[in-house]
Amino acid sequence: MRLTRYFLPVLKENPAEAQIVSHRLMLRAGMIRQASAGIYSWLPLGFKVLRNLENIVHEEQVRAGHIPMLMPTLQSADLWRESGRYDDYGEEMLRITDRHGRDMLYGPTNEELITDIFRNSVRSYKDLPLTLYHIQWKFRDEIRPRFGVMRGREFYMKDGYNFDIDRDSAIHAYNRHMVSYLRTYERMGLKAIPMRADSGPIGGDDTHEFLVLADTGESEVFYDSAILDLKLGDRAIDYDDRAQCAAIREEWTTPYARTDETHDEALFHGQVPEERRRSSRAIEVGQIFYFGTKYSEPMKATVVNDKGEHVPVHMGSHGIGVSRLVGALIEAFHDDRGIIWPESVAPFKVGIVNLKQGDSAADTACESLYRELTAAGLEPLYDDREERAGAKFATMDLIGLPWRITVGPRGLKAGVVELTSRKTGESEELKPADAIARLGEIYLGQ
Ligand code: ATP
Ligand code: MG
Repeated sequence: MRLTRYFLPVLKENPAEAQIVSHRLMLRAGMIRQASAGIYSWLPLGFKVLRNLENIVHEEQVRAGHIPMLMPTLQSADLWRESGRYDDYGEEMLRITDRHGRDMLYGPTNEELITDIFRNSVRSYKDLPLTLYHIQWKFRDEIRPRFGVMRGREFYMKDGYNFDIDRDSAIHAYNRHMVSYLRTYERMGLKAIPMRADSGPIGGDDTHEFLVLADTGESEVFYDSAILDLKLGDRAIDYDDRAQCAAIREEWTTPYARTDETHDEALFHGQVPEERRRSSRAIEVGQIFYFGTKYSEPMKATVVNDKGEHVPVHMGSHGIGVSRLVGALIEAFHDDRGIIWPESVAPFKVGIVNLKQGDSAADTACESLYRELTAAGLEPLYDDREERAGAKFATMDLIGLPWRITVGPRGLKAGVVELTSRKTGESEELKPADAIARLGEIYLGQ
């Protein structure tokens, strides 16, 4: 993309309404604009990051054997009356009446709708296990929407639902989700810690939240610092292997890690040596639940088991806050000049800065870099504006592309361009072809 043809409305001043750094930087970098309280338009740069996160979530869900689909945002109130949640959910649910006077709602979550789809089509235990998921906009009429996309009213969420014949099999689905979530966050460059949590209006007894440590987070957490050393890395995972998934859950849930809702000070002190005891603020980026037959019983979602009996299915639901993650990533990765995207989620892989727009050698070198990077799949953003170098650097730093290639007449005389890492600030002079090859290696496997 050429910057002169793109839509990147960056702001020079800090917007007064933004209280936390991610909100400030998303507005300044031209990623989002508020449409109304807690509701945002995703401008091209923000939309690209959102899509990149969505793709990672999809890839890891499909890898775990979960099946993508798409349910609507608007739902009929009837299903929610069946489960009893139409009254229970309260003010957070946006209720709508259509022209025929029918009660509708903008879905805050989808347990009822998916259970209805399931019960109308699945009859036998032979069709289980089954896990369906979608990534769709949700609406919760939060009393205090704030911090930009972190606590919006309309937000983008991956929600998945498992249907299993018995508790053991549903617990395997729970463990499988935990492992797939760990992988998902790791691929985004984030450390998200699973913590014992409270189940809230979804209900159920087995539940973990995934939290990213950040001073601006809304949750208070207590944990054993040993958990920070755990990493899945590139270990081979067989999602059908119950023992392996259970062992990984065990590994990540043995060190003490709880939110304030479930925190037990005596246990914390008993279990964790003082030098490893930590408490901090954190951002909830996902949650998994096992809730057994809480929805399948009232909604009569049963299957015939191998003895010919009708039994309610065991279910769980599993959510990732995709739009909140954009903010959480910025909270985790920024400096005073702007965002520092991890390579796996960056909106463009590399920026090209032409130090002397209009100089024929510089223009020609930039054009050929632009063409070759594009052909190599290393999507560049070429700053081809008639601007001074300082302003171009400031824009690149603000929008946080992991790599920058700087092209100027002086370097070109020696046959080199400069490759700079946004993260470390370190630069290296290379021949243009070598800079492309280096980026190819860096992005390989991302
Ligand atoms: P919270 O406690 O932050 O209100 P929740 O526990 O009600 O969230 P879940 O039902 O667990 O939310 O939804 C799954 C994920 O969706 C959350 O982990 C979070 O990342 C994201 N999410 C929930 N509410 C919002 C919101 N208002 N804005 C943005 N993302 C949200
Ligand atoms: Mg939650």
